[in-house]
Amino acid sequence: MLNQTNGSTLSTNRYAHVVDEDLLEELRSLGQELRGVRVAHINATANGGGVSEILRSVVPMYRGLGVDASWLVLQGDEPFFKTTKKMHNRLQGAPVRVSAKEWDAYLAANRRNAEAMSSDYDFVFVHDPQPAAIPQFAREVSTRWVWRCHIDTSTPDDAVWQRIADLLSPYDAAIFSIPEFAGPKMPEIPVYSIPPAIDPLIPKNIEMPRDQALALIAGSGVDPLRPFIVQVSRFDPWKDPLGVIAAFERVQKHHSDLQLVLLGNFADDDPEGLVIYRKVLARASKLSNVHVIVENLDGLVNALQTLGRVVVQKSSREGFGLTVTEALWKGTPVVAGNVGGLRLQLKEGVGGFLVDSVEECADRVDYLLTHEEEGAALGAAGREHVRRNYLMPRLLRDELRVVRDLLNGSQAAVPVSQNGHAGAANSL
Ligand code: UDP
Repeated sequence: MLNQTNGSTLSTNRYAHVVDEDLLEELRSLGQELRGVRVAHINATANGGGVSEILRSVVPMYRGLGVDASWLVLQGDEPFFKTTKKMHNRLQGAPVRVSAKEWDAYLAANRRNAEAMSSDYDFVFVHDPQPAAIPQFAREVSTRWVWRCHIDTSTPDDAVWQRIADLLSPYDAAIFSIPEFAGPKMPEIPVYSIPPAIDPLIPKNIEMPRDQALALIAGSGVDPLRPFIVQVSRFDPWKDPLGVIAAFERVQKHHSDLQLVLLGNFADDDPEGLVIYRKVLARASKLSNVHVIVENLDGLVNALQTLGRVVVQKSSREGFGLTVTEALWKGTPVVAGNVGGLRLQLKEGVGGFLVDSVEECADRVDYLLTHEEEGAALGAAGREHVRRNYLMPRLLRDELRVVRDLLNGSQAAVPVSQNGHAGAANSL
């Protein structure tokens, strides 16, 4: 287990100009109540993907409130991550097989990591399936354990879900991004619904001057003076980059000047990335005006999400989709797959359009390209939706409520949030 905590602290007061004062007030009060409580977050990668993105911001924010928070990263080899990506794929409904030998190796890696945990904690959040077996081998390391699932488990394969449900028996609670993701056969533990969030103050999300954005985009090889649409995503079949290219080909017939940008990166725990990247490159090389970029620069993500005419996220499964939250925060309209957490973010008149096919995706992108004012209004409503529901102080508050209530043994007292879905967790 690698300790990723860098000791830094972030004051929640920095968010005073973006979030409501009563939220900051509640955070200060939770911080006083939980001062010195030892909380750890365990996940599978320090780089790539939404979970590492969240932990990089939220762990220093816990510390800023006086909570003694740490970020631990599970160590595994390539076969281990191949197995856990298969588990992930099966949980999202794909028909792949996980052999008994692979399960054994998964448990052995979890055991090794559990044995390497050298400190004691009051509360541990375990993110996603990769480290889910840790408490089986280290129950005594923490007084409370919570499994925090970020993936779209609305249509899981039964057998693998049963395995996961079995792994959950030592846990005190589970958290899903939306209520529908809590599968059947859950053990008798409290189940919370808490959506993720973005940090509006990191370089990826702060307001970027237009000149700077234009320069960054030009530097990446995209013509900043011609219109472009963009999908920012790991190279993962669930993000459907080939479907995005197919939709772009249709739109291009009416907008010959249009460019498509596919900006992607690779997560340390996702061995499928390179395979998909090669497929995308092969397809893109046959077309004009498609830019496939692998560049881990937060500034470039910001610039593309800011100046893109439309941000696309054509996922066929999606736990939440921080890339959509990021785009909406910049007021850019979005066309996204009608799945999972994307449905929380795009609503009638808010943010953009949900689509179920390549054709629909092309049609909605085309519509936004030709109805700029409507697109701007959707983007503006999307930004306010994000401001109210999906910024980091709200996520921190929801997690601290869970910590407080489970440590006090008063789970029933957890309030449901006012907007009904971005809440700190009601029992489902
Ligand atoms: N991301 C990035 N560069 C890339 C691709 C993705 O910085 O080339 C970031 C993206 O901005 C977002 C996160 O990775 O913050 C992806 O989170 P999301 O929830 O959209 O998807 P996940 O990868 O967790 O499935």
